[in-house]
Amino acid sequence: MTERFEMLIGGARRGAANGTTFSCENPYTGRTWAEVPDATPADVDAAVTAARAALDGPWGQTTGFDRARLLRNLAAQIARDTQRLAAFEVNDSGKLHREMLGQMTGLASWYDYFAGIADKLEGRQIPTPNPNFLVYTRRMPVGVVAAITPWNSPLLLLTWKLAPALAAGCTVVIKPSEHAPVSTLAFGKLFEDAGFPPGVVNIVTGSTGATGAALAGHPGVDKVAFTGATETGRGVARAAAENLNASTLELGGKSAQIVFDDADLDAAANGVIAGIFAAAGQTCMAGSRLLVHTKVHDQLVDLVVKRATTIRLGDPHDPTTEMGPIANGPQFTKVMKLLDQALTEGATIACGGRPDEELGGYFIRPTVLTGLVPDATILRDEVFGPVLAVSTFTDEDDAVTQANGTPYGLAGSVWTRDVHRAHRVAGRLRAGSVWINAYRAVAPSVPFGGYGLSGIGRENGVEAVDAYLETTSVWVELSGATRDPFVLG
Ligand code: NAD
Repeated sequence: MTERFEMLIGGARRGAANGTTFSCENPYTGRTWAEVPDATPADVDAAVTAARAALDGPWGQTTGFDRARLLRNLAAQIARDTQRLAAFEVNDSGKLHREMLGQMTGLASWYDYFAGIADKLEGRQIPTPNPNFLVYTRRMPVGVVAAITPWNSPLLLLTWKLAPALAAGCTVVIKPSEHAPVSTLAFGKLFEDAGFPPGVVNIVTGSTGATGAALAGHPGVDKVAFTGATETGRGVARAAAENLNASTLELGGKSAQIVFDDADLDAAANGVIAGIFAAAGQTCMAGSRLLVHTKVHDQLVDLVVKRATTIRLGDPHDPTTEMGPIANGPQFTKVMKLLDQALTEGATIACGGRPDEELGGYFIRPTVLTGLVPDATILRDEVFGPVLAVSTFTDEDDAVTQANGTPYGLAGSVWTRDVHRAHRVAGRLRAGSVWINAYRAVAPSVPFGGYGLSGIGRENGVEAVDAYLETTSVWVELSGATRDPFVLG
């Protein structure tokens, strides 16, 4: 049976102003499983207006202590609802239940972490050359935030925006992806249960990019936080800039895992599998390039291929499944197109390289490509699917040059037993996150984001809240004397 979900605007559950909806397809079953509202521009206006009204209302008067309490309440609500939220994300995106349950369980820790920051947003008392002034700063919420999110890990990536924005005292209008909107709509209920005033958090959904575009460029918005594709991010940044708003952008990647010849190859192979086949490679931080020292290339590729060919594909709700389908039709088509192009450009398939014939649908076999020419498209373009592109290097400089040889700079890893080299190479990578002898770990307290085409700004960590704050400098005249009105200072 198809489930119906509604938007959240000013504390009220609403359909679109013109009553239209769109369908959500379960990528595993291929069937429509939910209907959600297809917002009109008037709905986006209403959500932004509600967010502004909430900012001007009691929410604007809350202290950091009040907000910390509400964020902790929210964390408790999430902890009670992990199974339901995880199931929605699996239905919408085909990602594994075990992964999404892990994400939902971890989600609460983000709200707890930023609750710990909400009541510590301190200004400064600043000395000036003129002793007649006491100057201090106040840290104010930037205002109404537009949070636009992609279909992979919708609630986790939303939380990276929402938790610091709420800690800062902002109000938010959320626009989840048309390919996976349901968990976000369901999440809306938890704000009410946690005690947030109406309008602090609003959610609009739309069947095309037009809803996100209307929100990103809305004159009533003060800041835009976006996760998605690099090309979309460019448009979002332009729309925000039109209103002279800042934007935080978390975009694509083509991250390299560098494996030296002294590495523990079993551990490295496991890390390579985690980097590219977890979530069927549909993560921004996917380790989609393997750079391996020529001496250990054959040995490592053998290990990776052995494990890749035994990865269990199937029903994402089944706890024994290791890889689900590609999340939606357009993404499946994109992955297959890039795969075909790689083969045309001379790539050798070490394993996979085709859809899974038995399962059909959007399943693609875990794929390892070797023998790539240096300017192969697959070494440059983000696939966002289970496709590993392998290259070799001969020395450290060569490895670093190749790793940094894309316009992206989101993540990377160094596999070696040499502690000097590990830190040396980590420091030379132009990447927002570098793991040493590991891959794919994140935490609320650790900044995440990219260099170059991977984005602007960082989410997570203490500094993340700065993106949602303005500074007001307050000057207090102390002498009471009448000043020369024609002289500055
Ligand atoms: P996408 O850019 O197509 O969509 C992202 C969001 O933007 C969706 O909500 C979409 O509706 C909206 N949107 C579409 N057109 C818009 C427009 N013109 N103006 C404003 N909003 C618009 O991305 P996707 O396909 O959902 O997600 C996959 C991409 O996201 C990949 O490239 C991946 O690397 C990237 N990603 C990055 C991170 C990160 O943290 N760096 C995390 C996850 C995904």
